[in-house]
Amino acid sequence: MAQNYYITTPIYYVNDRPHIGHIYTTILADVFARSHRLLGDDVFFLTGTDEHGQKVQDAAEARGLEPIQHADEMVVQFQEIWKDLDISNDEFIRTTEARHTSVVSEVLSDLYDRGEIYVGEYEGWYCKHCERFWTKKDLVEGNCPNPDCQRPVSVISEKNYFFRMGKRRDWLIDHIRKNENFILPASRRNEVLGFLDGPLGDLCISRSRKRLSWGIPLPFDEDYVTYVWFDALLNYVSGVGYRRDDAFEKWWPASLHLIGKDIVTTHCVYWPTMLEAMGLPLPKSILAHGWWTQGGEKVSKSKGGAIDPRPLIEKIGLDAFRTVLLREMIIGADAGYSEERLVARYHSDLANDLGNLHYRTLSMIEKFLGGKVPKPGPGGSLQEKAESLKKDCRSLVESYSFNDLLDRVFDLVREGNRVIDREQPWRLAREEKTEELERVLYGVAEAVRIAFLYLSPLQPTTAAKARSTLGLDGTWGKLDEEGKWGGLRAGSEVRIGKPLFPRLEPGD
Ligand SMILES: [Zn+2]
Repeated sequence: MAQNYYITTPIYYVNDRPHIGHIYTTILADVFARSHRLLGDDVFFLTGTDEHGQKVQDAAEARGLEPIQHADEMVVQFQEIWKDLDISNDEFIRTTEARHTSVVSEVLSDLYDRGEIYVGEYEGWYCKHCERFWTKKDLVEGNCPNPDCQRPVSVISEKNYFFRMGKRRDWLIDHIRKNENFILPASRRNEVLGFLDGPLGDLCISRSRKRLSWGIPLPFDEDYVTYVWFDALLNYVSGVGYRRDDAFEKWWPASLHLIGKDIVTTHCVYWPTMLEAMGLPLPKSILAHGWWTQGGEKVSKSKGGAIDPRPLIEKIGLDAFRTVLLREMIIGADAGYSEERLVARYHSDLANDLGNLHYRTLSMIEKFLGGKVPKPGPGGSLQEKAESLKKDCRSLVESYSFNDLLDRVFDLVREGNRVIDREQPWRLAREEKTEELERVLYGVAEAVRIAFLYLSPLQPTTAAKARSTLGLDGTWGKLDEEGKWGGLRAGSEVRIGKPLFPRLEPGD
């Protein structure tokens, strides 16, 4: 049954340059969004940028610009790369936009009026780089415990504002226990439950303007701005019109917040308690994926290990890149980033298996059947695999078992190649066994169509092209219709064109 599906990526810090971490998260979210569209769901896909905070203020100052001028320049690189990578987001939200900042102010006023935010004295060890306070026991050798930072911290005691997070601890534990799919995968769920085993304090949500002015002012105290996370997390509701638009009722609660595993606490502890205080239901799922690693370390810009995938995309094509990237990481686990491995995957799955099946099937239809799709016949093992894929597709997509879904699509592809090797259409042609020849070639051509149907969320352009080579138009319909065996029309003309996934030659 068709449903509403609202998916978000984290909003990326506008000071960063887009790297493989952002790219993987966003392509994965795009594939989820497109898969739900294929299932016939009504989809809203939100991404954006987090634009407040110390690092933006510092970077702007260093360049002699106003923070907003700096952000206006930096945001373009995210907006452009998502276009380049064929990301189908419905909206792009910036936390400096009035539609967001006004919602943050209203939420703060409301929580303050209801006593959910109170003023208190705060003493803590403050890391300027991370813009957060630590307790003494958090510190590692007296320094910031964030492994990507490890900078010196300073003791600060001052008046601040606090959100009553701590009293919601038992309620949150209960919610996580009762809702198995709230935090995925299970390893992250256990990690959050472990974290909640200890005491949960209230959340300091203010930053003194003396140190940081680039933020959303607290509506009840102009000497303070809002803590960036409290501001940023609210994008998930402001981005779909919270307090502004009836559309909010349609999209909230979100179906999925897709995140990296480094921001689990903010999303699985801060955010749910904020929503509870606001009287809003919680998102259905928060899925944390793993990291791309190199030599066992997270690939991230702060460690200087930024990876630019553009040369690889130029080499193998965007759709192939999207496909091999998703094939090489099991959702939730870490994976080593290696261009050689991605290229090897390109050759095995795409050039050898899928590209070869597509090319030789169409060549044989051209050579033995005058280029016309034969009449449909029983599809044997190919039809069985296609039908079970159709039956299971929704549950595989909804359980985020995307790697299993892809395994089964490529199993169908390999079965197509096995059928050709076994049935030897060239022999059937020579022996003039026309009926058998037509049955075999219809079956493998139909398997090609169905493989590209399921790959269309990963390969929007290539799958459309593949569809048109099979004598159909280049527009995929919904799974209900397209997933049925027998979609190729007898008598329509195939158009081979160039191989969709050419093998790379040494030196390419
Ligand atoms: Zn730090």
